[in-house]
Amino acid sequence: MAVVIDKNTCIGCGACIEVCPVEALTMVDDKSVVDPDKCIDCGACVDTCPVGAMTL
Ligand code: SF4
Ligand code: SF4
Repeated sequence: MAVVIDKNTCIGCGACIEVCPVEALTMVDDKSVVDPDKCIDCGACVDTCPVGAMTL
């Protein structure tokens, strides 16, 4: 599994990318994108997203 990002909600703030311990997140066209092979489901990004765009 990997975190799910709602592209319509993401505002491209980059906060999730800063907190991800395994660098699973990157910014593509001002939206956060997850690499499911890297994500360890830690939840750090979910807790950090200011608009609730991420869910596990
Ligand atoms: S759940 Fe954890 S490992 Fe997965 S993208 Fe978010 S911060 Fe990174
Ligand atoms: S923290 Fe939320 S709003 Fe900010 S880039 Fe990540 S998914 Fe988008």
